[in-house]
Amino acid sequence: MLLEVNGLCVNYGRIEAIRDITFTVEEGEVVTLIGANGAGKTTTMKTVSGLRPVRAGTIRFDGQDITHMPPHQRPVLGISQSPEGRGCFPGMTVNENLDMGAYARKDRKTKAVAEDRDRVFSLFPRLQERMNQTAGTMSGGEQQMLAMGRALMARPRLLLLDEPSMGLAPKLIAQIFDIVTEINNQGTTVLLVEQNAAQALKRANRAYILETGEIVREGTGSALAADDAVKAAYLGGD
Ligand code: ATP
Repeated sequence: MLLEVNGLCVNYGRIEAIRDITFTVEEGEVVTLIGANGAGKTTTMKTVSGLRPVRAGTIRFDGQDITHMPPHQRPVLGISQSPEGRGCFPGMTVNENLDMGAYARKDRKTKAVAEDRDRVFSLFPRLQERMNQTAGTMSGGEQQMLAMGRALMARPRLLLLDEPSMGLAPKLIAQIFDIVTEINNQGTTVLLVEQNAAQALKRANRAYILETGEIVREGTGSALAADDAVKAAYLGGD
């Protein structure tokens, strides 16, 4: 098992944002967490990347207990997050943002990084066209691509993608999900948080449904997509 989250509880002061959640991600999978606004999806992602402290429960990565590991050490192990929203360094160029993604790598001065930049550019040709442009002047969709590209520059084993489709035009949404599938096909395990449940379930091997901080359902993406209650609650009833 690549990621094992067990009995996780996370608070904001007295607010219990997530309560006793347990889920796993196997090497090679795309696993999605879906749920309404405020269900606890972003909190879960931030806790796996170390940005929120754990009140109870454990997080193991590749067998190692990382529950209390500082966030800057996790990319070294192979966990990399593309955060919700734009999350780029707005005053830096595309190339500089991509360099930041590789900072934790021991091999950052080598050919491997140049190869990974080429891979990012082949996934997102738009970023290559704009490599010397300042991130803050690009569109929301382009900044989303840059956030994903930057996360990939860490050459992660586990990519945490928080709402990659947020705020994008419908045409771009399908494209972003195609790229998620392609990233996974190239060998990266993906944990995906999404409000676009239809696309997320279609792309995921397995899914967990979060409601007010708890996991209420789990199953394969296709089984949940075909489930009447899930359809009514998350797929607009169709
Ligand atoms: P969204 O899609 O809106 O980001 P989410 O499913 O990611 O929703 P979280 O952002 O994880 O949900 O929020 C879970 C709960 O924690 C909510 O009740 C929210 O109000 C609360 N919460 C989130 N961030 C904070 C914060 N910084 N301070 C206090 N409460 C917070």
